[in-house]
Formats: sequence, structure tokens, C-alpha cells
Amino acid sequence: MSYGLILNSPNDVFKALPSVDKALQSEVLRSVVEEFGHDAVKKAVRYKLDEKRKLIVNGDQSLCNAVVKKRYFDQFCREIANHVRGSFASTLLSVINLTGTVVHTNLGRARFPEEVMAVIKTVATQATNLEFDLVTGKRGDRDFHIERSICEITGAEAATVVNNNAAAVLLVLNTLAQGKETIISRGELVEIGGAFRIPDVMLSAGCILKEIGTTNRTHLRDYESAISVNTGLLMKVHTSNYEIRGFTNSVPEEELSELSHQNGLAFVSDLGSGTLVDLSQFGLPQEPTVSEILKKGADIVTFSGDKLLGGPQAGIIVGKKDLVSQIKKNPLKRALRVDKITIAALSAIINLYKDPCRLKERIPLLGDLARPIEEINALAERLMPIFDDHLKLRAKVSIEECKSQIGSGALPLDLLSSKAIVLKPIAKKGQTDFMLQKLAADFRQLPKPVIGRIHDGKLIFDLRCLQNETELQRQLSLLPI
Ligand SMILES: *Cc1c(COP(=O)(O)O)cnc(C)c1O
Repeated sequence: MSYGLILNSPNDVFKALPSVDKALQSEVLRSVVEEFGHDAVKKAVRYKLDEKRKLIVNGDQSLCNAVVKKRYFDQFCREIANHVRGSFASTLLSVINLTGTVVHTNLGRARFPEEVMAVIKTVATQATNLEFDLVTGKRGDRDFHIERSICEITGAEAATVVNNNAAAVLLVLNTLAQGKETIISRGELVEIGGAFRIPDVMLSAGCILKEIGTTNRTHLRDYESAISVNTGLLMKVHTSNYEIRGFTNSVPEEELSELSHQNGLAFVSDLGSGTLVDLSQFGLPQEPTVSEILKKGADIVTFSGDKLLGGPQAGIIVGKKDLVSQIKKNPLKRALRVDKITIAALSAIINLYKDPCRLKERIPLLGDLARPIEEINALAERLMPIFDDHLKLRAKVSIEECKSQIGSGALPLDLLSSKAIVLKPIAKKGQTDFMLQKLAADFRQLPKPVIGRIHDGKLIFDLRCLQNETELQRQLSLLPI
């Protein structure tokens, strides 16, 4: 027997619990019913009543004491209201990306331009000719809506689109080399992150990995001597997120394509990020464009829609007409195909590339990458006193130079000069790390979470990707002191 003073028997307390009907008709819940519907609120009331009964049976004294009081009814109804609102709230929130990684996979990669949103809205809310040929009145092909533009911009003969670039690689390998060997340099057997590893994708695609050369050096003769009757194709993979330096050698695309064609094989290049324009015009490091790789003789090139292109998640496959049409006929294509929203978004993005002079202004990703340092400096100067004002009891605030990354495996070593607001927690000895983690967590828990990066005992907010200064200021004012 517990020593506590039992004022009420469970039965008395049960009787004091609000009834479902009474709760639903309460002042507090009437508006909640209006907003979320009768059934959802009723379910929540039942759920909470059940929960309370269990607690009462288990002898929760403070609850027993509360329930028999008159004001418990209002308290209970408010609890229901919060529960219902919470269960309808989206967990997918917009955040402020101050990590310094511009194309951040965990933060949703590219932001869409306004032009794209208008197109998406129409396509999403109305019936469309997605797979309907308006000339013949017969079934059409969804690729029809993007293929011409992609070909125009890349110089490819044909194109098709799937769910992401991982799917593009899978589909190409499965179509062109199932049951056969794919020859690839050891130096290109990369892991991109999120469990995309070239050897594993080959296995899933049903082809046999034939690795050649060494980690740092692979020569044309390595490819030559690996070709046999079992060969399906030759492949080159962009080593996106790492770079081998020093005593290295890899074989240029021109030579690989020549060797492939002499042997009647296809040469496939997975570009990963894939860019359609020369990025050096924005002061960015040069990357081979998709059309350059095609000109160098690649039969198929795969690249991503939401990395350097700045569009929706998609994998784009371009190249020779006969190969692309084989790829389109693969039953896996049906499983990996994109929906109408992606097609609409991609086609709108690609159209923007037809006017290269305005890309920086129109594609948010390219705008972020090319953002002038003077602009970031000015932002830092304006925001520094505001950060200091809100955080002076918790951290020492300063402006520091930093380097932004392009991200998502694009150009890993090329860092862009930027400016950051840097917070160094004020803490007792031995508490610094705890206070730093707490500070970062408080920023993450804001209504619009602010995501920075922790490095060297400091919380760093790289301002390169900050869109809305006022919004950040508002979030700062909500931060616990
Ligand atoms: C990123 C990347 C992929 C995977 O692309 P997703 O669009 O993320 O599926 C494949 N290959 C390379 C070389 C990459 O960089």
C-alpha cells in the first residue's frame, strides 16, 4: 500500500472526467472542430480520455487531484486542441540554410525559381496532356514534354528522365549491360553518400563490375586488355565528392569513346551534378558541361536535375537515339519514371537555360553560388549587432571569413569565399561543448529553424544562402535568452 493520501477512489475520478459530447461542444473545441473536422477531434478526445483512465488506474495522484477540480474541464479541452493541432502540423518545414553548403541534400537541394512555381500550379490542379497526343488523339509519351528542350540545350539526339540520378545510372546499366561486364577504373568506384555506391548499383542493375587500373592511375591499355566477349559497356563516373591528387592518371573521354566504338561497345559517362553552362562565367570553377561530354563521344550521359542544374529531383539520361529508345523500353523505366510535377518543373527550368544571360538572376541556386562577396559582407555587418543583441548573455559574437561549399558532390575541393556570423558560447570550464550543442539545438527548434555548422568549438552561420534578412531577425527575437 502506498503511503500517499488517497482522496478519491478511481471510480469517483472516472466519473469526474469530461464526457466526449460535452468536450466537443465546449467553447475551446468548437473552433477546432470547425477547422479540423468532427471525427478527428472526437478521436482525439477518446484517445486522451483513455490515456487519463490508464494514468488514474496506475495511481497518478496529481492527475486524480486535478480531475476532480472544476477548472479541469477547460484544461482538458485545451490539451485536446493542442493534440489535434500537433497531429495536423507538417513535419516538413522550411528552414534557413546557413550551413555554407549551397546544394545541401539533407536540406532539400535546389530551391525553385518563381517561374517554375506558376507552371507547377497549373499542372498540379488541372487535367493535362501528360501522356496524350493532341494531334492523333492517342496515347502519348511523357518524355515528349521535355525531350526536345533537353536535346536542344545539350546537343543530344535523344533524352529521357527518371526519378533521380541514381535511378538513371541503374536504368542505363540494367538496359545496356545486364548479365555483362561493365569496365570501370578503380579510382571511380565512388560512394556518393546516402548508400549510393557504384559497385552496389552495378550489382542491383544485374551487371558485373570489372574494375581496372589502380586507385590513382588507370591507362588506356588497362581498358583495352579488359575488353572481352563478356563486356557490356565502358563507364566513367565523375568522382564528385573526392579528388585524387599527386601521381595520377585517368583516360580522357575521347580515347575511351574511340576504344568503345572500335569494339562495338557503348561508352557511358555518369556526370553526377552535370551542368548545362560554363560555370566559370559566374566566377565558379570550370566543370565539363553535358554537351562537352557528348561531343567527346560519350554515347550516354547521366546527370542530376537538382544538383547544379537547380531544378527538381530527377535523373536525366541523354545520348544516342537507339540507346535511349532501348532504355525507354526497359520495364524498370516504368517503375522509375517521374510524375507530371517533375516534368513541368524540369521543363520550366530548362527553358530558363535558353536565356543564359539572366540565369544568375532567375535560378536561385546559381544566384547563391555567384553571390558577390560585397553583398555577403554587408549582410554580415548589418546582422552582427542584432545577433549580438539577442545572444550577448550566451555567446561571443563575431564576423569571420569562411568558405562555402557547392555541395552534393559537386566540385568538392572548390570553396567559395564567404562571410559568417560566428558564435562562441560563454560557458564555465568543461561546459563549452554542452552549451554549444544547446545553442545549435535552440536555433534548430525555432519556428523557422536556422541551421548552421559547428566547427572548432564555434557555431558558424555562413550568410551566403540567406534570402530573407527580416525573417532571420524575427527568428532571433524568438530565441531563448
Ligand atoms: C549525386 C550523384 C549520383 C546520384 O544522384 P542523385 O540525383 O542524388 O540520385 C550519382 N552519380 C554521381 C557521380 C553523383 O555525383
